[in-house]
Amino acid sequence: MKSVSTGRINATIFYAYQVCPREAWFYFHHINPAQDHELLDLGRIVHEFSYQRDRKEIFVDNLLKIDLLRGELVAEVKRTSRHINAARLQLAYYLCYLKHEKGLEFDGVLLFPKERKTERVKLTPELEGEVEGLMKEMMPVLLAEEPPQVRKIKYCKSCSFNELCWG
Ligand code: SF4
Repeated sequence: MKSVSTGRINATIFYAYQVCPREAWFYFHHINPAQDHELLDLGRIVHEFSYQRDRKEIFVDNLLKIDLLRGELVAEVKRTSRHINAARLQLAYYLCYLKHEKGLEFDGVLLFPKERKTERVKLTPELEGEVEGLMKEMMPVLLAEEPPQVRKIKYCKSCSFNELCWG
């Protein structure tokens, strides 16, 4: 992989795309959910109260927001492990970006404080290939003038765009 830089795909968009491409399209086009949505609040609380001693948010090129560095590990904090594969790929995206854009090689760790669960993520060639494939797939979808068709999935119930899609 030569570069993972595509200008405007930030971490939120990258993660959202794997759960629902329509949600990612909204973020890409700066259509944001109501800020008082209860799950956004819950997400903030988990972020505010977890790992306070070693937490340090690091912004990279206005695209990535690294939750904290734990020793030599880039850590990503998630409210739930329900979308663990999306979380794994999001973290792999961070690791790819740091490697190819900044010349920094790290391993990563996913932290699920509410579930007292962690998972180490190593940037293998296979994982890099998956990130690259996903980037190629998502660009035409995100650049389209219209969002992807609305499609009922389990996540719709708790999605902060629920009103917009189904209201
Ligand atoms: S409500 Fe459902 S279809 Fe709409 S953005 Fe959210 S997950 Fe996607």
